[in-house]
Amino acid sequence: MSRFFSAKYASLQAYTPGEQPRDAEYIKLNTNESPYPPAPAVVSAAAREAERLNLYCDPACTELCKAAARLYGLGPENILPVNGSDEILYFSFMAFGDERHPFAFPDVTYGFYPIYANVNHVPAHIIPLREDFSIDPEDYCNLGENIVIPNPNAPTGMALSVSRIEDILRTNPDNVVIIDEAYVDFGAESCVPLLGKYDNLLVTQTFSKSRSLAGARLGFGLGNPALIRDLNTVKYSVNPYNVNRMTQAAGVAAIESLDYYRKNCQAIAETRAYTIGELAKLGFETLPSLTNFIFTQSPAIPGGTLYQALKERGVLVRHFGQPRTENFVRVTIGSRPQMDAFLDAVRAILKERGL
Ligand code: PMP
Repeated sequence: MSRFFSAKYASLQAYTPGEQPRDAEYIKLNTNESPYPPAPAVVSAAAREAERLNLYCDPACTELCKAAARLYGLGPENILPVNGSDEILYFSFMAFGDERHPFAFPDVTYGFYPIYANVNHVPAHIIPLREDFSIDPEDYCNLGENIVIPNPNAPTGMALSVSRIEDILRTNPDNVVIIDEAYVDFGAESCVPLLGKYDNLLVTQTFSKSRSLAGARLGFGLGNPALIRDLNTVKYSVNPYNVNRMTQAAGVAAIESLDYYRKNCQAIAETRAYTIGELAKLGFETLPSLTNFIFTQSPAIPGGTLYQALKERGVLVRHFGQPRTENFVRVTIGSRPQMDAFLDAVRAILKERGL
């Protein structure tokens, strides 16, 4: 820390992103990216736009908002495009949280929530998951606090039904309820249809996973026009040109390539079922996932040991040090050949240890 660093950030614990190694070719199953490239029309739209990189981009993302409005069945005034959904989550903690307006979220969930709370001096109310790692919606009903829940949750992969989420929305009418739908396209129900009914609902989505655009950084906040206006006030106070030209063009083309992405999501759901089945034969217990990753554990080998042994064999997965989930690894669902390579590595690691 330099002697200039503000005391208000002295205790900040920054987020540790998943490894993006440059030292060797890994089978990368650690950051929930898509194994499939963006649709061809997306690549050419971004390339065309590259010729105009000398000019600032449209801060209002007009064309992208129009396309997203068609995709979600909403008006452009319900939509705020952002630099990855991380940004809309950060804007939300800035806009709606303060000393008197805490944010509640699960103990096992997306690691950025406690950090966003901390950096914005927003108290965090951490609510334990049930023993089986599911969220108990009752814990969030009548809470009188802002709430952020990923649906499906990460890293468990488990989802709530929209009707249970509706109970949370109905019983917290004076608080913002954020449903983080980063992984919704892989099988869970979206809360977007509830937007007309609840002015306290903010849905966040990303094009990083199902739309193969993690490197382009594109996410969306979807909500009541008044909420979107507040979030725009924050955006225009921080970084008006937050979604660059190439990403805006790529986003429009991605929305127009819906069939391509639907097919990829279907392939990932099939590969997920296959991988869970093969792991079960090896004694692994996997939580019921509706995402493009699985959270799995074996009674025979600690999660940290498995993570390390897989890395030595060129397969990267994610291991979180939290006590409740120490025995688990989170594995992104890649292509079928990638998952076969992962399963072969697991078999070899178990065999090596006489298991
Ligand atoms: N929410 C959850 C639950 C996530 O796992 C992620 C991905 N790390 C994000 C939001 C943010 O994704 P992005 O910023 O790439 O849209």
